[in-house]
Amino acid sequence: MPRDLRALPKANLHLHLTGSMRPSTAAELAARYGLPPLPAVPIVPGVVHGWDAFQARYDTARAAVRSAEDIARVVREAVEQDAADGVGWTELQVDPTSYADRLGSLEAVVEALLDAARDLPVGVILAASWGADPQRAERSAGLAVKYAPYGVVGFGLSNDERRGRVGDFVPAFRLVADAGLARVPHAGFYEGAWHVRECVELLDATRIGHGLTALQDPSVVALLAERQVTLEVCPTSYPPFGVAPAQGAVPALLADSVPVALATDDPLLFGVGMVGQYEVARQACSDAELAAIAATSVGASHAPAGLRRQLLAGIRDWLAG
Ligand SMILES: [Zn+2]
Repeated sequence: MPRDLRALPKANLHLHLTGSMRPSTAAELAARYGLPPLPAVPIVPGVVHGWDAFQARYDTARAAVRSAEDIARVVREAVEQDAADGVGWTELQVDPTSYADRLGSLEAVVEALLDAARDLPVGVILAASWGADPQRAERSAGLAVKYAPYGVVGFGLSNDERRGRVGDFVPAFRLVADAGLARVPHAGFYEGAWHVRECVELLDATRIGHGLTALQDPSVVALLAERQVTLEVCPTSYPPFGVAPAQGAVPALLADSVPVALATDDPLLFGVGMVGQYEVARQACSDAELAAIAATSVGASHAPAGLRRQLLAGIRDWLAG
């Protein structure tokens, strides 16, 4: 009998608030607010989709999150879904500018998130879009610093990385680095290994969302290994966009001592939870490697130290069992 992946303790380090929504919740909220129904998932296997193909579903779902109560429900359900898959700690990534018009202000968004996350095993990551004006990104980075004592653990850059220049975001990332927060930009999804390098060298990234194009340049792989920058790999996020890595990408990174964590990104768009990500990885990884990946996810998380110890002990038991 193969070991049960549900029983493997893990942390989900890369999950977007809107993308975490249950389709039924997104549909229910849209109906309540008189918004159009959620468009179908557009994934056609073997077909390369543009970014925009997913944006309508994402935008409809996001527009239906209109109050602090809605945010609390989405956060609670995301944690429930993760917990059912053996996740003991979830880091939820949110671009507060996407909700501010409905909630009233950027601060109201952040406070609603932190209220929702209180007493749950959740860390909040604030993000700006790669397409954002760098000064607006700096404003969001400042919010991350301001709310760090209340549960914000990091700052990232999300959306299509081709829309911005890495160097423009140096001031925002300097703010969060000075405050000791995690720096977690999306990188190396469309752009090549150089993009991952710039995010590490210019933004002092502590983790990278995706980053698989690093494999195109051994010197960037070596940089990630040397600085122990964890890649948040989300196996089901690549095939729909035609950026699918070779099946051996994860074992290759592990063999080169690059820390790898698996994460879900947007279950609302890709339809796959945490166990599903590990099932994809299992096609190329041994259980010992999967346990190492889970341990990396916990070690690179911002969970409280006691919880991290407990999850790591559970991972050892899983492999020994
Ligand atoms: Zn993402």
